[in-house]
Amino acid sequence: MQLSAFSAPGRFWRGNLHTHSTLSDGCLAPEEVCRRYAAEGYDFISLTDHFIGRYGYPIADTLPFRSNSFTTLLGAELHSGAMENGELWHILAVGLPQDFTAPNAPDFQPVAGQESGPELAARARASGAFVAIAHPHWSGLTLADARSITAAHSVEIYNHGCAIGCDREGGGHVLDLLLSEGRDLTLIATDDAHFTEPDHFGGWVMVKAEANDPELLLEALKTGAFYSSQGPEIRNVEIRDSEVFVESSAVASVIVQGRGQAALAVHGTSMTRTSVALDRFRGSPWLRVTVVDTAGKRAWSNPVRFENTATGN
Ligand SMILES: [Zn+2]
Ligand SMILES: [Zn+2]
Repeated sequence: MQLSAFSAPGRFWRGNLHTHSTLSDGCLAPEEVCRRYAAEGYDFISLTDHFIGRYGYPIADTLPFRSNSFTTLLGAELHSGAMENGELWHILAVGLPQDFTAPNAPDFQPVAGQESGPELAARARASGAFVAIAHPHWSGLTLADARSITAAHSVEIYNHGCAIGCDREGGGHVLDLLLSEGRDLTLIATDDAHFTEPDHFGGWVMVKAEANDPELLLEALKTGAFYSSQGPEIRNVEIRDSEVFVESSAVASVIVQGRGQAALAVHGTSMTRTSVALDRFRGSPWLRVTVVDTAGKRAWSNPVRFENTATGN
């Protein structure tokens, strides 16, 4: 069985799903943010400013910055309600309608009686958005918090701004726990760029679609036809009878992870076609693949759920 990112028709388009501008607390105007990402070779971005009253609930109109070689998905970082630690929810929503109804979220502090984070996430998903739990480590997210966002499509496994600004970059721990509870989730790497520090061009998604079209990209995000990267390319992941077969750009390690303590690494020099034995993962309902290059840059496949393989998906 081949992961959908590699079996789906089309080619890969590189995008950043989490970005801020002067419409909230970023320091570059939307046009300049789009210009820089296009100049760096990105095919698309989603400008996801903070959707709170302090900034007038912005959903950036990036349509004027689309070109023949660059597109945008409308989006926002949504906020309302308190997590278990009493702090405000941060939920990424890509593919939001421009008239998405604002919650009562005046500022970065929760206020009594406002919509909860799970309710807001559900409303975003119902409106057509791809919904992700943002920067779990930075937020101080608990497992109960993570469980409560039942509308999430995805979890940020890497947030470049949180790596640069506070060494709290990851979401793999809560992602793996939710996968082991049976949740059907993908993972994304993002920048969360504000351009206030070197918080840009560090983590992205490679989305498989037949054209660089917002609707096709959004659909591929929802179906999991993508992988995430800091640099390396993943060109194929196939689950075979006794092995996971991975094709990639030249990497130094290929690591397969599954439920609980299940993990196995193969190390080598300039590896591009790597087999990892499946034995260790027989009891795991899911697995995923990480590749690491000699510079320590990683790329991550989406998880494979074995329940789905029985149906040929
Ligand atoms: Zn945030
Ligand atoms: Zn953000």
